[in-house]
Amino acid sequence: MDLLTIIKDAGVIGAGGAGFPTHAKLTSKAEYILLNGAECEPLLRVDQQLMEQFPDEIIKGMEAAGRYIEARKAIIGIKGKHKEVIVLMRERIAALGLTDYMEVMELRDIYPAGDEQVLVHELTQRIVPEASIPLKVGCVVINSETALNIFKAMAGNPVTETYITIAGDIPRRMTVKVPVGISIRDVLGQCGMENIDDYAVIDGGPMMGSIMNNVDGYVTKKSKGYVLLKKDHFLIRKKSVSLDRARIIGKTACEQCRMCTDLCPRYLLGHNMQPHKVMRALSYNLEDVLEQQIAQLCCECNACELFSCPVGLHPKSVNVFYKQKLAEQGIKYQPIQMDFQARSAREYRLIPSKRLVIRIGLTAFDKPAPLTQIEFRPEYIQIALRQHIGAPALPVVTIGEQVKTGQLIAKIPDNSLGATVHSSLNGTVIEINDNSIVIKVGSYV
Ligand code: SF4
Ligand code: SF4
Repeated sequence: MDLLTIIKDAGVIGAGGAGFPTHAKLTSKAEYILLNGAECEPLLRVDQQLMEQFPDEIIKGMEAAGRYIEARKAIIGIKGKHKEVIVLMRERIAALGLTDYMEVMELRDIYPAGDEQVLVHELTQRIVPEASIPLKVGCVVINSETALNIFKAMAGNPVTETYITIAGDIPRRMTVKVPVGISIRDVLGQCGMENIDDYAVIDGGPMMGSIMNNVDGYVTKKSKGYVLLKKDHFLIRKKSVSLDRARIIGKTACEQCRMCTDLCPRYLLGHNMQPHKVMRALSYNLEDVLEQQIAQLCCECNACELFSCPVGLHPKSVNVFYKQKLAEQGIKYQPIQMDFQARSAREYRLIPSKRLVIRIGLTAFDKPAPLTQIEFRPEYIQIALRQHIGAPALPVVTIGEQVKTGQLIAKIPDNSLGATVHSSLNGTVIEINDNSIVIKVGSYV
Protein backbone atom coordinates (compact mmCIF):
# COMPACT_ATOMS: atom_id res chain seq x y z
CA MET A 1 0.00 0.00 0.00
CA ASP A 2 1.11 3.55 -0.71
CA LEU A 3 2.76 5.26 2.32
CA LEU A 4 0.32 8.15 2.19
CA THR A 5 -2.65 5.77 2.44
CA ILE A 6 -0.97 3.92 5.31
CA ILE A 7 -0.41 7.16 7.21
CA LYS A 8 -3.93 8.39 6.43
CA ASP A 9 -5.53 5.12 7.51
CA ALA A 10 -3.53 5.15 10.76
CA GLY A 11 -4.80 8.63 11.71
CA VAL A 12 -1.34 10.18 12.04
CA ILE A 13 -1.41 13.91 12.80
CA GLY A 14 1.24 16.43 13.81
CA ALA A 15 1.89 15.40 17.38
CA GLY A 16 3.74 18.54 18.34
CA GLY A 17 1.42 21.33 17.34
CA ALA A 18 -1.98 22.08 15.91
CA GLY A 19 -2.60 18.51 14.72
CA PHE A 20 -2.37 18.97 10.97
CA PRO A 21 -3.06 15.61 9.28
CA THR A 22 0.34 14.20 8.29
CA HIS A 23 -0.82 12.58 5.03
CA ALA A 24 -1.88 16.02 3.81
CA LYS A 25 1.52 17.44 4.72
CA LEU A 26 3.28 14.80 2.63
CA THR A 27 1.35 15.28 -0.59
CA SER A 28 3.90 17.71 -2.07
CA LYS A 29 7.51 17.06 -2.99
CA ALA A 30 10.16 18.99 -1.06
CA GLU A 31 13.92 19.35 -1.00
CA TYR A 32 14.32 18.84 2.75
CA ILE A 33 12.54 16.91 5.41
CA LEU A 34 13.27 18.34 8.86
CA LEU A 35 12.68 16.66 12.18
CA ASN A 36 11.73 19.11 14.88
CA GLY A 37 13.42 17.74 17.99
CA ALA A 38 13.82 21.15 19.61
CA GLU A 39 11.12 20.81 22.25
CA CYS A 40 11.62 24.43 23.21
CA GLU A 41 8.75 24.66 25.68
CA PRO A 42 10.26 24.77 29.18
CA LEU A 43 9.60 21.69 31.39
CA LEU A 44 8.31 19.41 28.60
CA ARG A 45 10.43 16.32 28.15
CA VAL A 46 8.77 14.15 25.51
CA ASP A 47 10.89 14.48 22.36
CA GLN A 48 14.34 13.90 23.85
CA GLN A 49 13.19 10.80 25.65
CA LEU A 50 11.41 9.39 22.61
CA MET A 51 14.60 9.81 20.60
CA GLU A 52 16.52 8.07 23.38
CA GLN A 53 14.05 5.18 23.60
CA PHE A 54 13.13 4.75 19.93
CA PRO A 55 15.98 6.12 17.81
CA ASP A 56 15.71 3.52 15.02
CA GLU A 57 11.94 3.80 14.77
CA ILE A 58 12.06 7.61 14.57
CA ILE A 59 14.88 7.55 12.02
CA LYS A 60 13.05 4.99 9.86
CA GLY A 61 9.72 6.83 10.09
CA MET A 62 11.42 10.05 9.08
CA GLU A 63 13.37 8.36 6.29
CA ALA A 64 10.19 6.84 4.84
CA ALA A 65 8.43 10.23 4.87
CA GLY A 66 11.49 11.92 3.38
CA ARG A 67 11.90 9.39 0.58
CA TYR A 68 8.18 9.66 -0.15
CA ILE A 69 8.36 13.40 -0.73
CA GLU A 70 11.63 12.88 -2.63
CA ALA A 71 13.58 15.03 -0.19
CA ARG A 72 17.27 15.05 -1.05
CA LYS A 73 18.25 15.55 2.58
CA ALA A 74 16.82 14.73 6.01
CA ILE A 75 17.95 16.90 8.93
CA ILE A 76 17.21 16.21 12.57
CA GLY A 77 17.35 19.33 14.76
CA ILE A 78 18.20 18.72 18.42
CA LYS A 79 19.40 21.28 20.95
CA GLY A 80 23.17 21.02 21.48
CA LYS A 81 22.64 20.65 25.23
CA HIS A 82 21.17 17.16 24.66
CA LYS A 83 24.59 15.69 23.96
CA GLU A 84 23.77 12.01 24.63
CA VAL A 85 20.73 12.08 22.36
CA ILE A 86 22.77 13.68 19.59
CA VAL A 87 25.53 11.05 19.91
CA LEU A 88 22.96 8.25 19.94
CA MET A 89 21.05 9.52 16.92
CA ARG A 90 24.29 9.97 14.94
CA GLU A 91 25.37 6.44 15.86
CA ARG A 92 22.06 4.95 14.79
CA ILE A 93 21.99 6.92 11.51
CA ALA A 94 25.43 5.48 10.74
CA ALA A 95 24.44 1.96 11.83
CA LEU A 96 21.41 2.10 9.56
CA GLY A 97 23.59 3.21 6.63
CA LEU A 98 21.89 6.56 6.24
CA THR A 99 24.76 9.02 6.65
CA ASP A 100 24.51 10.08 2.99
CA TYR A 101 20.88 10.99 3.47
CA MET A 102 20.36 12.03 7.06
CA GLU A 103 22.23 14.19 9.54
CA VAL A 104 21.77 15.63 13.01
CA MET A 105 22.28 19.36 13.42
CA GLU A 106 22.69 21.02 16.79
CA LEU A 107 20.26 23.77 17.64
CA ARG A 108 20.99 26.65 19.95
CA ASP A 109 19.21 26.72 23.28
CA ILE A 110 16.92 29.60 22.41
CA TYR A 111 13.20 30.24 22.53
CA PRO A 112 11.31 29.43 20.33
CA ALA A 113 13.78 27.09 18.57
CA GLY A 114 10.87 24.76 17.84
CA ASP A 115 8.77 27.34 16.00
CA GLU A 116 8.60 25.85 12.49
CA GLN A 117 9.85 28.99 10.81
CA VAL A 118 12.70 29.53 13.27
CA LEU A 119 13.65 25.85 12.89
CA VAL A 120 13.68 26.09 9.08
CA HIS A 121 16.02 29.07 9.29
CA GLU A 122 18.31 27.55 11.89
CA LEU A 123 18.67 24.31 9.90
CA THR A 124 18.68 25.55 6.30
CA GLN A 125 19.27 29.32 6.52
CA ARG A 126 16.09 29.74 4.45
CA ILE A 127 13.28 32.03 5.50
CA VAL A 128 9.66 31.05 5.11
CA PRO A 129 7.83 34.06 3.63
CA GLU A 130 5.25 35.92 5.70
CA ALA A 131 1.91 34.16 6.09
CA SER A 132 3.31 31.08 4.38
CA ILE A 133 4.46 27.54 5.21
CA PRO A 134 7.86 25.78 5.14
CA LEU A 135 6.95 24.03 1.88
CA LYS A 136 7.28 27.40 0.14
CA VAL A 137 11.05 27.14 0.71
CA GLY A 138 11.29 23.43 -0.02
CA CYS A 139 10.92 22.09 3.52
CA VAL A 140 8.53 19.75 5.26
CA VAL A 141 8.74 19.66 9.07
CA ILE A 142 7.58 16.79 11.27
CA ASN A 143 8.27 16.17 14.93
CA SER A 144 9.78 13.16 16.73
CA GLU A 145 6.50 11.65 17.90
CA THR A 146 5.00 12.06 14.43
CA ALA A 147 7.98 10.21 12.91
CA LEU A 148 7.50 7.47 15.51
CA ASN A 149 3.81 7.27 14.62
CA ILE A 150 4.68 6.99 10.91
CA PHE A 151 6.94 4.05 11.74
CA LYS A 152 4.19 2.43 13.81
CA ALA A 153 1.70 2.98 10.97
CA MET A 154 4.06 1.17 8.58
CA ALA A 155 4.04 -1.75 11.03
CA GLY A 156 0.23 -1.77 10.93
CA ASN A 157 -0.46 0.14 14.15
CA PRO A 158 -2.70 3.21 14.10
CA VAL A 159 -2.32 6.11 16.53
CA THR A 160 -3.92 5.07 19.81
CA GLU A 161 -1.42 6.43 22.34
CA THR A 162 0.35 9.67 23.11
CA TYR A 163 3.23 10.73 25.35
CA ILE A 164 2.62 13.38 27.99
CA THR A 165 4.91 15.16 30.46
CA ILE A 166 3.37 15.97 33.83
CA ALA A 167 5.41 18.85 35.23
CA GLY A 168 5.43 21.92 37.43
CA ASP A 169 5.21 22.50 41.17
CA ILE A 170 4.52 18.84 41.99
CA PRO A 171 6.38 16.07 43.81
CA ARG A 172 6.38 13.53 40.94
CA ARG A 173 7.38 14.84 37.52
CA MET A 174 7.23 12.26 34.80
CA THR A 175 6.55 11.49 31.19
CA VAL A 176 4.01 8.77 30.50
CA LYS A 177 2.48 6.95 27.56
CA VAL A 178 -1.29 7.09 27.78
CA PRO A 179 -4.17 5.74 25.71
CA VAL A 180 -5.94 8.45 23.69
CA GLY A 181 -9.32 9.18 25.29
CA ILE A 182 -8.28 8.55 28.91
CA SER A 183 -9.51 11.19 31.37
CA ILE A 184 -7.09 14.02 32.15
CA ARG A 185 -7.83 13.50 35.85
CA ASP A 186 -6.44 9.96 35.58
CA VAL A 187 -3.21 11.33 34.14
CA LEU A 188 -2.94 14.12 36.72
CA GLY A 189 -3.51 11.52 39.43
CA GLN A 190 0.11 10.45 38.87
CA CYS A 191 1.57 13.80 39.99
CA GLY A 192 1.94 12.71 43.60
CA MET A 193 -0.65 15.03 45.17
CA GLU A 194 -3.99 14.02 46.62
CA ASN A 195 -5.60 17.37 46.08
CA ILE A 196 -4.93 19.86 43.31
CA ASP A 197 -7.65 22.38 44.22
CA ASP A 198 -5.08 25.15 44.81
CA TYR A 199 -3.46 24.49 41.45
CA ALA A 200 -4.14 25.53 37.90
CA VAL A 201 -3.23 23.24 35.02
CA ILE A 202 -1.69 24.49 31.77
CA ASP A 203 -2.57 22.32 28.79
CA GLY A 204 0.68 22.12 26.82
CA GLY A 205 3.88 24.03 27.48
CA PRO A 206 4.18 26.95 29.89
CA MET A 207 4.73 29.44 27.05
CA MET A 208 2.06 28.60 24.50
CA GLY A 209 -0.28 26.42 26.52
CA SER A 210 -3.46 27.81 28.02
CA ILE A 211 -5.04 27.33 31.43
CA MET A 212 -7.63 24.58 31.47
CA ASN A 213 -10.99 25.83 32.72
CA ASN A 214 -11.59 22.43 34.21
CA VAL A 215 -9.69 19.18 34.16
CA ASP A 216 -12.66 16.99 33.31
CA GLY A 217 -11.63 16.57 29.69
CA TYR A 218 -9.97 13.71 27.87
CA VAL A 219 -6.56 13.19 26.31
CA THR A 220 -6.24 13.62 22.54
CA LYS A 221 -3.51 12.66 20.09
CA LYS A 222 -2.18 16.22 20.42
CA SER A 223 -1.84 16.23 24.22
CA LYS A 224 1.79 16.78 25.07
CA GLY A 225 2.04 18.13 28.59
CA TYR A 226 0.21 19.23 31.70
CA VAL A 227 1.96 21.83 33.84
CA LEU A 228 0.59 22.23 37.37
CA LEU A 229 1.32 25.48 39.18
CA LYS A 230 -0.16 27.17 42.23
CA LYS A 231 -2.92 29.59 41.33
CA ASP A 232 -0.89 32.57 42.52
CA HIS A 233 2.14 31.70 40.36
CA PHE A 234 3.22 34.50 37.98
CA LEU A 235 2.39 32.43 34.88
CA ILE A 236 -1.08 31.54 36.05
CA ARG A 237 -1.87 35.13 37.02
CA LYS A 238 -0.56 36.35 33.68
CA LYS A 239 -2.42 33.74 31.63
CA SER A 240 -5.63 34.39 33.55
CA VAL A 241 -5.96 37.96 32.25
CA SER A 242 -8.93 38.15 29.90
CA LEU A 243 -8.60 39.46 26.37
CA ASP A 244 -10.72 42.49 27.27
CA ARG A 245 -8.61 43.33 30.31
CA ALA A 246 -5.40 42.83 28.30
CA ARG A 247 -6.70 45.39 25.81
CA ILE A 248 -7.68 47.93 28.45
CA ILE A 249 -4.32 47.68 30.24
CA GLY A 250 -2.43 47.84 26.94
CA LYS A 251 -4.31 50.91 25.84
CA THR A 252 -3.33 52.90 28.88
CA ALA A 253 0.14 51.63 29.68
CA CYS A 254 2.06 50.87 26.46
CA GLU A 255 5.06 53.16 26.33
CA GLN A 256 5.99 52.24 22.74
CA CYS A 257 9.46 51.13 23.79
CA ARG A 258 9.31 48.46 21.04
CA MET A 259 11.04 45.76 23.08
CA CYS A 260 8.24 43.40 22.05
CA THR A 261 9.14 43.99 18.41
CA ASP A 262 12.91 43.96 18.83
CA LEU A 263 12.83 40.49 20.40
CA CYS A 264 9.97 39.04 18.34
CA PRO A 265 11.25 35.88 16.61
CA ARG A 266 9.16 36.51 13.50
CA TYR A 267 10.29 40.15 13.25
CA LEU A 268 13.89 38.98 13.59
CA LEU A 269 13.37 36.67 10.60
CA GLY A 270 12.65 39.80 8.58
CA HIS A 271 8.86 39.62 8.70
CA ASN A 272 6.77 42.70 9.28
CA MET A 273 5.46 41.42 12.64
CA GLN A 274 5.80 44.50 14.82
CA PRO A 275 3.69 44.07 17.94
CA HIS A 276 4.41 47.62 19.15
CA LYS A 277 2.57 48.89 16.08
CA VAL A 278 -0.40 46.69 16.86
CA MET A 279 -0.34 48.10 20.39
CA ARG A 280 -0.23 51.58 18.90
CA ALA A 281 -3.24 50.85 16.73
CA LEU A 282 -5.02 49.74 19.89
CA SER A 283 -3.97 52.76 21.98
CA TYR A 284 -5.03 55.36 19.44
CA ASN A 285 -8.01 53.50 18.02
CA LEU A 286 -6.29 53.61 14.65
CA GLU A 287 -8.40 52.33 11.83
CA ASP A 288 -5.30 51.66 9.73
CA VAL A 289 -6.04 48.10 8.64
CA LEU A 290 -2.40 47.42 7.70
CA GLU A 291 -1.18 48.14 11.23
CA GLN A 292 -3.82 45.77 12.56
CA GLN A 293 -3.30 43.21 9.82
CA ILE A 294 0.29 42.48 10.78
CA ALA A 295 -1.24 40.80 13.84
CA GLN A 296 -1.90 37.88 11.50
CA LEU A 297 1.86 37.27 11.26
CA CYS A 298 2.04 36.39 14.95
CA CYS A 299 2.78 32.73 15.78
CA GLU A 300 1.57 33.29 19.36
CA CYS A 301 4.87 32.15 20.88
CA ASN A 302 4.17 34.53 23.78
CA ALA A 303 7.77 35.75 23.99
CA CYS A 304 6.59 39.39 23.92
CA GLU A 305 4.08 38.87 26.69
CA LEU A 306 6.05 36.65 29.04
CA PHE A 307 9.62 37.82 28.38
CA SER A 308 10.11 41.00 26.38
CA CYS A 309 7.68 43.64 27.60
CA PRO A 310 9.29 45.53 30.51
CA VAL A 311 5.95 46.62 31.92
CA GLY A 312 4.16 43.28 31.67
CA LEU A 313 1.67 44.09 28.91
CA HIS A 314 -0.08 41.64 26.59
CA PRO A 315 0.93 42.24 22.94
CA LYS A 316 0.25 38.63 21.98
CA SER A 317 -3.28 38.82 23.35
CA VAL A 318 -3.85 42.05 21.45
CA ASN A 319 -2.65 40.27 18.29
CA VAL A 320 -5.15 37.50 18.99
CA PHE A 321 -7.88 40.14 19.41
CA TYR A 322 -7.10 41.69 16.02
CA LYS A 323 -6.73 38.29 14.38
CA GLN A 324 -10.27 37.45 15.48
CA LYS A 325 -11.58 40.82 14.34
CA LEU A 326 -9.93 40.53 10.92
CA ALA A 327 -11.11 36.94 10.47
CA GLU A 328 -14.68 38.06 11.16
CA GLN A 329 -14.32 40.60 8.36
CA GLY A 330 -12.69 38.07 6.03
CA ILE A 331 -9.50 40.17 5.79
CA LYS A 332 -6.29 38.26 5.08
CA TYR A 333 -2.78 39.69 5.27
CA GLN A 334 -1.31 40.17 1.81
CA PRO A 335 2.49 39.95 1.81
CA ILE A 336 4.18 42.70 -0.14
CA GLN A 337 7.38 40.74 -0.76
CA MET A 338 8.43 37.08 -0.96
CA ASP A 339 12.17 37.28 -0.21
CA PHE A 340 13.24 37.93 3.32
CA GLN A 341 16.55 38.49 5.09
CA ALA A 342 17.00 37.90 8.79
CA ARG A 343 17.51 41.24 10.54
CA SER A 344 21.15 42.02 11.20
CA ALA A 345 20.52 42.31 14.94
CA ARG A 346 18.98 38.84 15.16
CA GLU A 347 22.11 37.16 16.50
CA TYR A 348 22.18 39.51 19.48
CA ARG A 349 18.50 39.37 20.27
CA LEU A 350 17.80 35.66 20.54
CA ILE A 351 16.14 34.67 23.81
CA PRO A 352 18.25 32.19 25.82
CA SER A 353 16.03 29.44 27.25
CA LYS A 354 17.73 29.64 30.65
CA ARG A 355 16.90 33.32 31.02
CA LEU A 356 13.37 32.67 29.90
CA VAL A 357 12.90 29.97 32.53
CA ILE A 358 14.12 32.38 35.21
CA ARG A 359 11.89 35.18 33.93
CA ILE A 360 8.75 33.06 34.03
CA GLY A 361 9.52 31.69 37.49
CA LEU A 362 10.09 28.05 36.59
CA THR A 363 13.71 27.52 37.66
CA ALA A 364 12.73 25.47 40.72
CA PHE A 365 10.66 23.13 38.55
CA ASP A 366 13.06 22.78 35.61
CA LYS A 367 13.90 19.18 36.48
CA PRO A 368 13.85 15.80 34.72
CA ALA A 369 10.49 14.15 34.06
CA PRO A 370 11.62 10.58 33.36
CA LEU A 371 9.69 8.34 31.04
CA THR A 372 7.81 6.06 33.42
CA GLN A 373 5.80 3.01 32.55
CA ILE A 374 2.34 3.15 34.07
CA GLU A 375 -0.51 0.89 33.20
CA PHE A 376 -3.66 2.94 33.15
CA ARG A 377 -6.88 0.99 33.76
CA PRO A 378 -9.66 3.46 32.99
CA GLU A 379 -13.28 2.44 33.27
CA TYR A 380 -14.25 4.59 30.29
CA ILE A 381 -12.49 6.35 27.48
CA GLN A 382 -13.91 9.27 25.54
CA ILE A 383 -12.35 9.66 22.13
CA ALA A 384 -12.80 13.01 20.39
CA LEU A 385 -13.90 13.04 16.76
CA ARG A 386 -11.90 16.16 16.07
CA GLN A 387 -8.37 15.97 17.38
CA HIS A 388 -6.89 17.51 14.27
CA ILE A 389 -7.19 20.41 11.84
CA GLY A 390 -10.05 19.76 9.45
CA ALA A 391 -13.50 18.21 9.57
CA PRO A 392 -14.58 16.03 12.51
CA ALA A 393 -14.34 12.30 11.79
CA LEU A 394 -17.59 10.41 11.12
CA PRO A 395 -18.39 7.49 13.44
CA VAL A 396 -18.42 4.05 11.78
CA VAL A 397 -19.48 2.12 14.90
CA THR A 398 -22.83 1.84 16.65
CA ILE A 399 -23.91 1.91 20.30
CA GLY A 400 -23.51 -1.51 21.87
CA GLU A 401 -20.83 -2.59 19.39
CA GLN A 402 -17.71 -4.22 20.77
CA VAL A 403 -14.46 -2.67 19.61
CA LYS A 404 -10.86 -3.67 20.03
CA THR A 405 -7.63 -1.73 20.42
CA GLY A 406 -6.65 -0.16 17.11
CA GLN A 407 -10.04 -0.64 15.47
CA LEU A 408 -11.26 2.17 13.23
CA ILE A 409 -14.17 3.92 14.95
CA ALA A 410 -14.49 7.09 12.86
CA LYS A 411 -13.45 7.92 9.29
CA ILE A 412 -12.61 11.08 7.37
CA PRO A 413 -15.70 12.57 5.67
CA ASP A 414 -15.56 12.37 1.86
CA ASN A 415 -13.49 15.07 0.14
CA SER A 416 -12.43 16.62 3.45
CA LEU A 417 -9.23 17.33 5.28
CA GLY A 418 -9.21 15.24 8.43
CA ALA A 419 -7.87 12.22 10.29
CA THR A 420 -9.23 8.78 11.11
CA VAL A 421 -9.91 7.84 14.75
CA HIS A 422 -9.30 4.45 16.38
CA SER A 423 -10.22 2.86 19.66
CA SER A 424 -7.31 2.95 22.08
CA LEU A 425 -8.53 0.02 24.21
CA ASN A 426 -10.88 -2.96 24.00
CA GLY A 427 -14.47 -2.27 25.07
CA THR A 428 -18.07 -1.53 24.15
CA VAL A 429 -19.37 1.66 22.59
CA ILE A 430 -21.89 3.18 25.00
CA GLU A 431 -22.38 6.67 23.61
CA ILE A 432 -21.88 8.53 20.35
CA ASN A 433 -22.40 12.29 20.29
CA ASP A 434 -21.43 15.15 17.99
CA ASN A 435 -17.98 15.44 19.55
CA SER A 436 -16.88 12.03 20.73
CA ILE A 437 -17.35 8.30 21.09
CA VAL A 438 -17.53 6.92 24.63
CA ILE A 439 -16.30 3.37 25.21
CA LYS A 440 -16.75 1.28 28.36
CA VAL A 441 -13.45 -0.47 28.68
CA GLY A 442 -13.60 -4.27 28.92
CA SER A 443 -12.55 -7.44 27.25
CA TYR A 444 -13.29 -8.02 23.59
CA VAL A 445 -15.04 -11.35 23.15
S1 SF4 B 1 3.63 36.23 20.34
FE1 SF4 B 1 4.72 38.17 20.36
S2 SF4 B 1 6.86 37.60 20.12
FE2 SF4 B 1 5.64 35.82 19.47
S3 SF4 B 1 5.37 36.09 17.26
FE3 SF4 B 1 3.63 37.06 18.26
S4 SF4 B 1 4.20 39.18 18.45
FE4 SF4 B 1 6.08 38.07 18.07
S1 SF4 C 1 7.28 46.06 25.00
FE1 SF4 C 1 5.39 46.54 26.13
S2 SF4 C 1 5.51 48.72 26.54
FE2 SF4 C 1 7.05 48.29 24.98
S3 SF4 C 1 5.98 48.66 23.03
FE3 SF4 C 1 5.72 46.52 23.48
S4 SF4 C 1 3.81 46.35 24.61
FE4 SF4 C 1 4.40 48.51 24.62
